[in-house]
Amino acid sequence: MRLSVIGTGYVGLVTAACFADLGHAVIAVDQDTGRVRSLADGQVPFYEPGLEDLLRRVEKSGRLRFTTDTPDAVRDSEVIFITVGTPARGGGDADLTAVAAVAEAIALALTEYRLIVEKSTVPVRTGERIRDQIHLLTRGAVPFDVACNPEFLREGSAIRDFLHPDRIVLGVDSERSERLLREVYKPFECPVLVTDLSTAELIKHASNAFLAMKISYINAVANICERVGADVRQVADGMGYDHRIGRAFLDAGVGYGGSCFPKDVAAFISIAREAGYEFRLLEEVARVNEAQRDILLRHLREALWVLANRTVAVLGLAFKANTDDIRGAPAVPIIEALHREGAVVRVYDPVAEPSARELLPEVSYCPDAYEAARGSDALIVLTDWEEFRHLDLPRLKTLMRRPVLIDGRNVLDPSAARALGFHYAGMGR
Ligand code: NAD
Repeated sequence: MRLSVIGTGYVGLVTAACFADLGHAVIAVDQDTGRVRSLADGQVPFYEPGLEDLLRRVEKSGRLRFTTDTPDAVRDSEVIFITVGTPARGGGDADLTAVAAVAEAIALALTEYRLIVEKSTVPVRTGERIRDQIHLLTRGAVPFDVACNPEFLREGSAIRDFLHPDRIVLGVDSERSERLLREVYKPFECPVLVTDLSTAELIKHASNAFLAMKISYINAVANICERVGADVRQVADGMGYDHRIGRAFLDAGVGYGGSCFPKDVAAFISIAREAGYEFRLLEEVARVNEAQRDILLRHLREALWVLANRTVAVLGLAFKANTDDIRGAPAVPIIEALHREGAVVRVYDPVAEPSARELLPEVSYCPDAYEAARGSDALIVLTDWEEFRHLDLPRLKTLMRRPVLIDGRNVLDPSAARALGFHYAGMGR
């Protein structure tokens, strides 16, 4: 099939590359000329495991091309996926400027039937708005459908998640759109849930908010564990064996971040409010999440007494392992708080340094964990990178000024650290 994908960020680029790999002819569009130029040269603008190889493979097949020209993409494809960003605005509701701009560009280029699919995470009823605006701009003269096909991939395992989803949700309001989307997803073997547009839009927000709630739940439990001397990891294991609960998203720590959970929780609260429902449960989810950073800083202050002029080594900037994405990462406000208190910050992240440099110009970037630890008064872990689980603790101890470990992701072994003479504080352990 001939498809286009508008927006070549984490979701759009993976979508375009995977569809092309599955045999579709795909046009990937972005308004960012620099990005399109480097993609055409084979450069991936962000870190995502396996994406560079996949792009190289599909490039050879000739089934994927990049352009800034939306009208050209609209002319040449039967199905158009919108994958632009939907960031949070000040009040928490989603900023739909980019989605609206794409809808308008599509409308102005429509000359014959097209299926327009929102894959970006959008508030319920956005599909209706897209449909109304395109109808107004085309004066009802061109047939088209709008569908919602939310994306559930995770950065860091995006390709695998895209190709092997737990389910595919198709929010449609015509047989034709369902038929076209089923054709697009023909090679997939997972359950396909067909709903109306609003239901599909809600499924995405309800899912992300639920996962965020699991994280805040276990963080709240971690706070009780700290008070009574229990170990939250074992509590989570014990809960997780229950198949009604599941172990995923029950890792206590400094809280969720990224470009999705914080904004999607805020957007869902705002959507609910607009619909006349105060979603207090989710307000508390967001509050618990933000409080986790203060808990980590409290552990640090307890160990160091004052933070002014102390050198703190921060391991991990990305909001989670296997990505360079620092949007909404807890590391950013934590580092800013350390600076406000007069601490000197040395950081190491395996891949996120280039994304962080502009936002955090005042920290010293180090080539590895041990260099970051050199001369430091404390080391705090903020991302669950695999390599941090295997740190050489005796070596760290010889490099550090004070042997203090604050484990914001519970990746280290508390008894091993304590046996070596470290002051160790995890989250809920
Ligand atoms: P992103 O910020 O990485 O990429 C968005 C891209 O859209 C950018 O390259 C930007 O230049 C481009 N763009 C913006 N306006 C445009 C326009 N008018 N025309 C053409 N291109 C335009 O965003 P992302 O992380 O890929 O997220 C996209 C959407 O998918 C969001 O709604 C997000 O909530 C949702 N989502 C994200 C993830 C994730 O893990 N990142 C997972 C599932 C769903």
